[in-house]
Amino acid sequence: MLKTIQCGELRPEHSGQEVTLAGWVNRRRDQGGLIFIDLRDRWGICQVVVDQETAPDAHNHASNARNEYVIQVVGKVRMRPDGTSNPELATGDVEVVASEIEILNAAKTPPFYINKEDSIDEVVRMKYRYLDLRRPKMQRNIVLRHRVIKFIRDWLDAQGFVEVETPILFKTTPEGARDFLVPSRLQPGKFYALPQSPQQLKQLLMVAGYERYFQIARCFRDEDLRGQRQPEFTQLDMEISFVEREDVIQLNETLMRALVKAVVPEKRIMEEPFPRILYQDAMEWYGSDKPDIRYDLRAVDVADLAGQSGFAVFVNNVAEGKPVKAMRVPGMAGNLSGTRLRTVAAELEDMAKAAGAKGLAYMALPLEEDGEVRGPVGKFFTVDQKLALFERLGAQPGDLILFMSDRREVVWAVTDALRPHLAKELGLLDPTLLGYCWIVDFPEFLWNEDEQRWDPSQHLFTMPMPEDIPLLDTDPGAARGSQYDMVCNGFEVAGGSIRIHDRALQEKIFPLIGQDMDSAREQFGHILEAFEYGVPPHGGIAWGIDRVVAILAGEPNIREVIAFPKSQTGSDVMSGTPSSALPAQLEELHIKLDLPEEEEIEA
Ligand code: ASP
Repeated sequence: MLKTIQCGELRPEHSGQEVTLAGWVNRRRDQGGLIFIDLRDRWGICQVVVDQETAPDAHNHASNARNEYVIQVVGKVRMRPDGTSNPELATGDVEVVASEIEILNAAKTPPFYINKEDSIDEVVRMKYRYLDLRRPKMQRNIVLRHRVIKFIRDWLDAQGFVEVETPILFKTTPEGARDFLVPSRLQPGKFYALPQSPQQLKQLLMVAGYERYFQIARCFRDEDLRGQRQPEFTQLDMEISFVEREDVIQLNETLMRALVKAVVPEKRIMEEPFPRILYQDAMEWYGSDKPDIRYDLRAVDVADLAGQSGFAVFVNNVAEGKPVKAMRVPGMAGNLSGTRLRTVAAELEDMAKAAGAKGLAYMALPLEEDGEVRGPVGKFFTVDQKLALFERLGAQPGDLILFMSDRREVVWAVTDALRPHLAKELGLLDPTLLGYCWIVDFPEFLWNEDEQRWDPSQHLFTMPMPEDIPLLDTDPGAARGSQYDMVCNGFEVAGGSIRIHDRALQEKIFPLIGQDMDSAREQFGHILEAFEYGVPPHGGIAWGIDRVVAILAGEPNIREVIAFPKSQTGSDVMSGTPSSALPAQLEELHIKLDLPEEEEIEA
């Protein structure tokens, strides 16, 4: 080894020892006869002192070194002189007095500071990802990711799970996205599909008798990269035989709780056991099936009261059976001036409109007992109606009350758009808090208006709730699936279901989702056939590992916890991926390109 100890590991107990260090120059301060180098490796930073008088050669090399040079230092550890300790560094009580220094590799001036937590342009970070990953914060994230995965592996192993690798080159496994296709050279004209998840294979492993399977699995979905999606991402994929919904929920909750305690003990889980919320309630209260429950801000049904008011919009909507919901925003009205209140309300209304609403009515409650309720709709409610409303909402002086009334789906969308914004404004987002919950009782299908058919709300292998199976024939939209999602801080972190394990029932699903039996057999014949050879009842789940790690790391974006992520256009800007193929490669695959004009020129 070119080093005998890690820079970040030096402590007072090493004082007096001769050590060899190697790492990167984080910073160098030249004070003439003395040069100080902060030397960095993955374990941390320590201070090296080079004295021209006692070590002239070392001093000479040190004066040539620049930031990010890779150097090796031989020297003796000593306590720092009184009053010069650095409490910011774990190694801050000691320093290494260098006797020899060797420059192992020089470095150009990096395009951004490695040694400062500056905000850096994302494109530059991605282009020089290897330098970005060198930054201590990124190293912490990547190491945390390793810890998370290691903990999961060890924990599941102790529970009798086996990790089985499933192929990347496979057949379409739909999870609602587009497949990435890979042309086959040996069978011209045929294609593999990269798996959107190992769903079918894990179910086949249950048929094969493995009973407890998991995999840290890479999944591929060719979607437009809205928000934070990545075309390839990592799941903890899991499947278990002879289980019911409750078993899968319990096991995963136990694992998540143990994981949090092991890897981020400084974080606090808001409620244990994780609360269970029915899908329908989540939509009605929060407008989302992945609500952030760290704050309440919920939509409350006030249709009965609003329908009695003199406000025509509410009255008409109620008559048409549309909801009227009110959300109490604690203290938001406070003592805002009239102008400021109108500006705040207009901003919120713009957000509501962007979510599909026609407007957003409000009432601002005064701080004083005898003050006036402000806002355009107040006058349409009698004093008693207002009191009943405030009581239902638990309203307090200074609160802002927002009203949403439209089609059910629009009210959901508005609620979902406003909640996180308001929470941020009110400072309700506690970064140390983990608000886990389970969402259960999803509908088995969601209506696809464009295609005029049902879509599976999870995927086509989800077992309907046993008591709802007869509804498949009469009212599929009312059937609930045995699906469960684990949600944390407003993100779905895991989702799964008990599966159909009966061929006849599975075959019933295809026509409902608009797939004819011939194409279903062509695509899924292998699994249908397997269902005739003794299938254990089974169920499973998949965790979005990137999201789980991002939340535990306190990072808003999953790109911060993926070593080499793709950009919004699906590229790796560092390597220039995707790139053109050589004509000879295409020929071998019998592929002719037929690109629109400009793109051909660009390519
Ligand atoms: N395969 C599903 C997914 O990737 C999860 C599951 O049902 O286990 O979302």
